[in-house]
Amino acid sequence: MKKIIPLAIPVMRGNEWRYVKECLDQGHVAAAGTYVQQLEAMIVERLGVRYAVCVANGTSALHLSLIVCGLSSDDAVIVPALTFIAPVNTVRYCGAEPIFMDCAADTLCLDIEKVVRYLESETRIGRDGSAYDKKNGRRIKAVIPVHVFGHPVDMAPLIKACGARSITVIEDATESLGSLYRGKAAGSIGRIGCLSFNGNKIITTGGGGAVATNEKALADHIRHLATQAKRGNIEYEHDEVGYNYRLSNIHAAIGVAQMEKIDEYVTVKRKNAELYRSMLSGVKGVEFIWEKPWTRSNFWFYTIKVPKKDKGPLARFLIERGVQVRPVWKPINRAPMYRRCLSYDVVNAPVAYETCLNLPCSVNLTESEIDKVVHLIKNYFNNR
Ligand SMILES: *Cc1c(COP(=O)(O)O)cnc(C)c1O
Repeated sequence: MKKIIPLAIPVMRGNEWRYVKECLDQGHVAAAGTYVQQLEAMIVERLGVRYAVCVANGTSALHLSLIVCGLSSDDAVIVPALTFIAPVNTVRYCGAEPIFMDCAADTLCLDIEKVVRYLESETRIGRDGSAYDKKNGRRIKAVIPVHVFGHPVDMAPLIKACGARSITVIEDATESLGSLYRGKAAGSIGRIGCLSFNGNKIITTGGGGAVATNEKALADHIRHLATQAKRGNIEYEHDEVGYNYRLSNIHAAIGVAQMEKIDEYVTVKRKNAELYRSMLSGVKGVEFIWEKPWTRSNFWFYTIKVPKKDKGPLARFLIERGVQVRPVWKPINRAPMYRRCLSYDVVNAPVAYETCLNLPCSVNLTESEIDKVVHLIKNYFNNR
């Protein structure tokens, strides 16, 4: 059988077994036990925020963040066209309308210059100080910058433009745990940051997520909503429509063991990024997407840019030879349920989709596997 080099698989080589066994032995599988609190404390420490609340997954973290920021169904939320679909869907869970923005060609993250241009030319400031889209009349309540593949969005000018218009910044840091933006942890810069511990993320709990914030009221509200808005332990009282978005103690136990490895994982990811980059340099037609000088990416995913005509054939060539690669996301503003929403000058995102591929990036990727991937890419370009 041919050996497959997977795109992104979890690696469990720390205390995962020991902590999970302890949960099972003690019967602390759901709400009982201390791992959820431990994981929250580790996130607080890692991100340098005051509060963290664990939830069922990254999608529920985003959903609850939008709710506690007061998003109403009349509002709009600025989202990237180039992203995993989760943040866009959560806007719709609230009945609100996404407005799609372009990515920068070099980082694949939200193009902040364009967002600012949109805000300046396509919105007007209402009497309440909020920005309203001139076309659909909706209040822009929030923006969800996604740190794509671990590379931080240029947050400072975004926060400045949003602050002047009462727009809440909710960071989608689900791909960027361990990344730094100008020395600050991704997920700690916006009003709320959302993390994911899905199976393919830099650390995993099997499935899980968290929110990080410096505001106690927001953290408390999110915890309340994630627990069916339940007050009282003997007799239940509910004062809002809540959700069952809690993380179990078993999941958190895996998360604590994974969190113990985060520094090691970021180091490995960055070292492998360097390896890919240096081995691929000089291959004509291939560009390895690198970090900006003001960031320190966790390099969750590695991305190469190739000529349009080569993307599909190269992907097939690699997959046939056991190298799992994936094209970057199809722009979400083209999906049938979002096609009729507003998009502002989205031109780089379709090009990224037509030219970019993600390469294998698991933490246990070996140097010889990277060598094999690069060798095959060279073969493809030498023989086409
Ligand atoms: C993974 C991911 C999410 C959602 O996280 P889940 O834990 O899978 O719900 C949200 N946004 C982005 C950009 C992601 O990559």
